[in-house]
Amino acid sequence: MKIIFATSNNNKAIELQKMMGDFIQIESLKDLFFTDEIEETEDTLEGNSKLKAIAVFKAFDRACFADDTGLEVEALNGAPGVYSARYAGPECDAKQNMDKLLTDMKGSSNRKARFRTVITFMDRDEVLQFEGIVEGEIIHQKRGLFGFGYDPLFIPNGSLSTFAEMQLEEKNQFSHRARAFSKLKNHLLGRYRK
Ligand code: IMP
Repeated sequence: MKIIFATSNNNKAIELQKMMGDFIQIESLKDLFFTDEIEETEDTLEGNSKLKAIAVFKAFDRACFADDTGLEVEALNGAPGVYSARYAGPECDAKQNMDKLLTDMKGSSNRKARFRTVITFMDRDEVLQFEGIVEGEIIHQKRGLFGFGYDPLFIPNGSLSTFAEMQLEEKNQFSHRARAFSKLKNHLLGRYRK
């Protein structure tokens, strides 16, 4: 079956395709030449992921899904959360976000944090959400060169390495996104495979 992934990030789509196997073919918004900006106006991961899925379903009337991810830090009452991409400001980059995070956590001995991904799947019959979480901690100094976003500051529970010190295959054994996608995959296989 073919399914639309509401992302313009082809790297994400390719990575996900690897996880999904042959039965499910992912099409990204780029593949479909969909260039409309979908503004993320909700204040929860659930809300934004649903908003994106609805916009794409309306445009194509086909099975689709969208994801939204945030880093939730316990000592910051769940921030940056849904605002993870633009924590240090609307035009900021990953370095600025990480620097702000370290500044905001200065003096905090509670380093507990988690990444949370929410996926919304939508077709003509149903709207469903799947969640993937990885618990871990924020260290005091960046370590590692792989990955993106907050990876150099995050060590998942059960590991000694930050996400940025792991190859993608290793990160995917822990990752929030991989966990949420695996739930979606199981659902799709159950629903569409005869
Ligand atoms: P998105 O919803 O996947 O676009 O993620 C929103 C933001 O969360 C990104 O811009 C990153 O700052 C952060 N983020 C999401 N996933 C990860 C991850 O796997 N590692 C580090 N940061 C992430």
